[in-house]
Amino acid sequence: MSANVLKGSCHCGAVKFEIRAPIEPAGRCNCSLCRRKGALMTPLFPANELTILQGEEDLTLYQFNTRVAKHYFCRHCGIYPFHQTRKDPLLWRANIGCLEGIDPYTLEAGVANGASLSVVEDA
Ligand SMILES: [Zn+2]
Repeated sequence: MSANVLKGSCHCGAVKFEIRAPIEPAGRCNCSLCRRKGALMTPLFPANELTILQGEEDLTLYQFNTRVAKHYFCRHCGIYPFHQTRKDPLLWRANIGCLEGIDPYTLEAGVANGASLSVVEDA
């Protein structure tokens, strides 16, 4: 799929962003955080393909375990629009459910073995 510009937002609309990235192959991840979120994510894309249009100050950062990955979520509505990956800090993924005009339930999705990257048990 070609990399169109896709608009995204959190639920309350405080955070708005754009990505220039493909959405397939979409992926889920089995790490302890993703398992709880259940979000379907875009493939990895370079950091410069993400533009935060609005609400950077409304984002809260959550880090755990190796503390390499940066998980951002809206401090008002709790929705998680994107994260900086643990594999490579220059690569990001966005939450497909936050993107305009895309139904995440129509996409085929694999499961990444994020749990295997953990340095502690069950993380
Ligand atoms: Zn929000």
